[in-house]
Amino acid sequence: MKVGVLALQGAVAEHRSMLEKLGATAVAVKKVEDLLDLDGLIIPGGESTTISKLMHKYDLMEAVRRFGHAGKPILGTCAGAILLAKEIQGQAEHHLGLMEIKVERNAFGRQKDSFEALLPIAHVGADYPAVFIRAPYIVEVSDRGDVLAKYEDKIVAARVDHYLACAFHPELTEDTRLHKYFLDMIKK
Ligand code: GLN
Repeated sequence: MKVGVLALQGAVAEHRSMLEKLGATAVAVKKVEDLLDLDGLIIPGGESTTISKLMHKYDLMEAVRRFGHAGKPILGTCAGAILLAKEIQGQAEHHLGLMEIKVERNAFGRQKDSFEALLPIAHVGADYPAVFIRAPYIVEVSDRGDVLAKYEDKIVAARVDHYLACAFHPELTEDTRLHKYFLDMIKK
C-alpha cells in the first residue's frame, strides 16, 4: 500500500515513519505528480494558512480535491483537518472543502495551548494518547458521518465517507492505532 504525506510544511517525517512502521510505503507529496498511484493521503498538522498558500502555489489544491473526489481516503490531522473542512467558523472561505465538517481554529484557548489527554476513540481503542497543539475542534459533523472522539464535550475526531479528521497529532507518540485505522479504511 502506498500512502502519501503532503510535505509542504508541518509534521511530515513523523507521519511517514508511522506508516512505515505499519508496513505501508510512505511517499512525500510535494508536487502534483507525486499523487499518482497513491492509495491514500495524509495532510499533516502545521499552519493551515501557510499550507493552503503553498498548495495553491504548487497547484496541489485542485489536485488533492480531484484525489478526494476520486474516492481516495484522506486523513487530516490538526491543520490538516482545517484544510479538509467544508466550513471554518468565522471564515467565509474554506480550503479544500472536501469533508462535511465545520471546524473552529485555535479552539482550546491560550492556557491550553498544548496538552495531552488519554481518550477513547471509536474503532481505534481506549486510552489513546492525544497530543493537542493550538488545536482546532470540530463544531459539527454531517449526518452521514461519525463522531469518533470527544474531549470535554468537544468533537476532536470524526469520519465522513472516506475522510478522517482529528484535532490532535497522532504522529507524535508511539501509538500507531489511529494510523492503523486509516490504513484499514484504505483497504476497504
Ligand atoms: N493552529 C493551527 C492552524 O490553525 C493548527 C495547529 C496544528 O496543526 N498543530 O492552522
